Amino acid sequence: MNTQGSLYIISAPSGAGKSSLVAALVKSVPQIRVSVSYTTRAKRPGEEDGVNYNFITQAEFQQMLADGAFLEHAEVFGNYYGTSEQWVNEQLASGTDIILEIDWQGAQQVRRLRPDALCIFIMPPSREALLERLKTRGQDNDEVIARRMAEAESEMAHFVEYDYLIINDEFSQALSELETIVKSQRLKVDKQQLKHEQLLQKLLS
Ligand code: 5GP
Repeated sequence: MNTQGSLYIISAPSGAGKSSLVAALVKSVPQIRVSVSYTTRAKRPGEEDGVNYNFITQAEFQQMLADGAFLEHAEVFGNYYGTSEQWVNEQLASGTDIILEIDWQGAQQVRRLRPDALCIFIMPPSREALLERLKTRGQDNDEVIARRMAEAESEMAHFVEYDYLIINDEFSQALSELETIVKSQRLKVDKQQLKHEQLLQKLLS
């Protein structure tokens, strides 16, 4: 029998390496996908529409909001971001685990609607490393970097609302910790009961 997929929320301050970790997780673990958010922010070099984000206009965003299309939405750094409720529900129903890479505001909204969501917070190993990562990314100007550094502090203040905390010092270690969370969730009795229904019936008859 098909089990419902698990819903993961992953938050981090900009520059903590969240997107690289999530991309590696999705490659290494089967049946897990990342939700592609809708955003009104401008595309950065190297980003692809429909891959990194669905890039839409303010008017389109407002229309989707009015249509109730978002599971959650938030304004971050003056831009709007939202998660498609329909896509998430369809994927979970098909048994695929879903990751939402969203900020603390979105995480709070999703937790209220889906208390079963597993919430993971990723921290950088130090303030210096965070600043360095923001600089070397080279996609934003100094003003944006300074603002993001300040925003990072307010994002990080919310880590206690999450279930798991990963410090992204050594990439492979942080990835293995993420994999452990997903794999152990799949071994929970309620998941295993549905997955191995026939076997368990035979063993217990
Ligand atoms: P960036 O513009 O650097 O890709 O993302 C900025 C922030 O917006 C990050 O904290 C990211 O997690 C958050 N974010 C991206 N997509 C969504 C979304 O769909 N909903 C919410 N609430 N936050 C999002």
